[in-house]
Amino acid sequence: MECDKCGADAIHHAAYSGGHLCGEHLCQSVERRVKRRIREDGLLDPDATPDDPDRWVIGLSGGKDSVVLTHVLDDILGRDPRVEMLTLTVHEGIEGYRDESLDACVELATDRSIRHEVVAYDEEFGVRMDDVVESDPEEMAPCAYCGVFRRDALERYAAEFDADKLLTGHNLDDEAQTALMKILEGDVREVAKHFDASLGPFDERGATDEFVPRAKPLRDVPEKEIALYCHVRDLPVHMAECPHADEAFRGEIRSLLHDLEENHPGTRHSIMAGYEELSALAAERYRPNGDGERPELSECARCGSKTSREICRKCRLLDAIEAA
Ligand code: SF4
Repeated sequence: MECDKCGADAIHHAAYSGGHLCGEHLCQSVERRVKRRIREDGLLDPDATPDDPDRWVIGLSGGKDSVVLTHVLDDILGRDPRVEMLTLTVHEGIEGYRDESLDACVELATDRSIRHEVVAYDEEFGVRMDDVVESDPEEMAPCAYCGVFRRDALERYAAEFDADKLLTGHNLDDEAQTALMKILEGDVREVAKHFDASLGPFDERGATDEFVPRAKPLRDVPEKEIALYCHVRDLPVHMAECPHADEAFRGEIRSLLHDLEENHPGTRHSIMAGYEELSALAAERYRPNGDGERPELSECARCGSKTSREICRKCRLLDAIEAA
């Protein structure tokens, strides 16, 4: 198999496009898609200046997706004075997992001279995920607790840094799996949230002042191509899985999508094209209480986070954990 661009040995056949690419041309293709996503989603504020730059916080876990995202963004915009980038690692308190991946984060940030910060659950909330899993007062999957804490920690830190955008490394496979899960769960309000939470352009999705807008510049790139990118560019990556990962439903969807993509190349892209249109329609209709208006958010009486209840979900979980 030869690369379509240069005739060198191809390392990848993208069945969805029919293309064969060598390592270098695969990397260039990934970088082009990220640039296009930045442009189409209007990520860079046109009013940003060196004196008043756009501030981006990049979630860096040390896994392949966030490592590639950080590397590519730094290549594209690292020397652009209109953008100020900072990487942020969330330390959940998981023995034998996060400390190792933190090493990969520090290596990358040091190598690229990017500012890197760590926010830990035990410092922020006084809990570690290992202990939460042990007590499990709400009888939920570990990721259900972890997701609430992570969202809060990211939001809190991004606000502290006065960030304009929060960027995460979700890839095409992640996004297609989530889309299919939401559709199969039949919750149209959740489908609507996708539009408000992660799709550009920012000004069209009615971003509010209440939360720092999210962006996913890798959402057009399949997981396998990200893994190959890491390999070709020899990036420091932590490959181990979290020992508490327990997303049985996502695992079923992942293998279903894998088979569909094998038999019908392009399935992930077509799922996302349809889902994005569907979520825009759902957002119009269901945002959020059936009347097209967002709910009034107030400040949590305990911690000051934005919430539609008197006490936010994170504080209610922390109460339950403390009482267990
Ligand atoms: Fe947290 Fe679940 Fe991710 Fe582990 S797999 S870090 S428990 S969200």
